[in-house]
Amino acid sequence: MVPKFIPLGSPDLQPQDVEAAVEVMRSGMLVQGEQVKAFEDTIAAYLGVKQAICASNGTATLHMALVALGIGPGDEVIIPALSYIATANVVELVGATPIFVDVDPDTFNIKAHDIEGAINSRTKAIMPVHEFGLAAEISLIREISRKYGLFLIEDAACALGAKEGSHFVGSFGHFGSFSLHPRKTISSGEGGILTTNDDDLAETIRILRNHGIVYKDGKMSFVAAGFNYRLTDFQAALVNSQFLRFDEILKKKQQLAEIYYQEIKDALIKLPNIPAGKNHTWQSFHVVLDDSIDRDVFITKMKERGIGTNYGAQCIPYQEYYKKKYQLNCSLVFPNALRAFQQGLALPIYEKLTEDDVARIAHNVNELTNELC
Ligand SMILES: *Cc1c(COP(=O)(O)O)cnc(C)c1O
Repeated sequence: MVPKFIPLGSPDLQPQDVEAAVEVMRSGMLVQGEQVKAFEDTIAAYLGVKQAICASNGTATLHMALVALGIGPGDEVIIPALSYIATANVVELVGATPIFVDVDPDTFNIKAHDIEGAINSRTKAIMPVHEFGLAAEISLIREISRKYGLFLIEDAACALGAKEGSHFVGSFGHFGSFSLHPRKTISSGEGGILTTNDDDLAETIRILRNHGIVYKDGKMSFVAAGFNYRLTDFQAALVNSQFLRFDEILKKKQQLAEIYYQEIKDALIKLPNIPAGKNHTWQSFHVVLDDSIDRDVFITKMKERGIGTNYGAQCIPYQEYYKKKYQLNCSLVFPNALRAFQQGLALPIYEKLTEDDVARIAHNVNELTNELC
């Protein structure tokens, strides 16, 4: 018997999640309403922040954050060289300049010390990413942002539930941004959340999200050139329902990760490293293959074995648009990001997988490594 194909990702929608969304659809409430409000309140309470604002996706949230902070042409925003491309695209979209900083090869996160070296008089903001679901050195990064008077926007798209010490990511910066895409831990299809402890910034975001509208004495005023970046209520119903078991989902992912740690034995595969004082929320279980192994062949052969894998994140300055525009020598300036992009591999890790599935994946990784090196 051919074993079933294991995809790289698969959202875990339970019947009650779908039912919750359908119920909202039946009510005829197809735009933003009570479900969105309820989810915002739930997330704000969970993360211990004053405000959470939902939006149509985790790129819209970053885009609005930059607009709300007045970041634009002439400004520089420091971001990691390794991330999902959206982290850089939003900086370009507001006309500012992304300044790439290489990542730590052990955590795939940007380091506070390297950020400090990239600051100059044009720097306006730092936008660290909590890559693959692990918190960056966010307390240290916050200290630096304060020392130089910079805005701090956490791209926590992958990292809902990740902590440094006793504090959740998304609670450190002027803004924290989360994604609800199906490749993240809970999903509304498309969706995003922006968090902040600043009520004025939150108000600005709510206005930007909804065409720049402010209601005064029951009358509409259009006070800003806003977006339509709203989330719908049936999408929010999906995540309201999933969030009821959020801690269980994280626990399950942790159990699966432990099986990978036990079963993947090969010295040619570098497993994720978790610094003390942090949890990992396992958006990806991201390993790095030895240079003797052709990563793309590895992905193809894993597929033949019925297992979906892929690279984990882009070395952004190495992608066509950024390569042409900035002409940075990635192997020289961002060796860690480039290597993580070229030799990195995300393995399946999600609630639906069984411990046997993960043992099977690990077994195939071990076999293939020996075959290909
Ligand atoms: C997923 C992701 C985004 C974009 O989120 P979307 O909801 O897909 O727009 C941004 N940054 C990082 C680091 C991501 O992983």
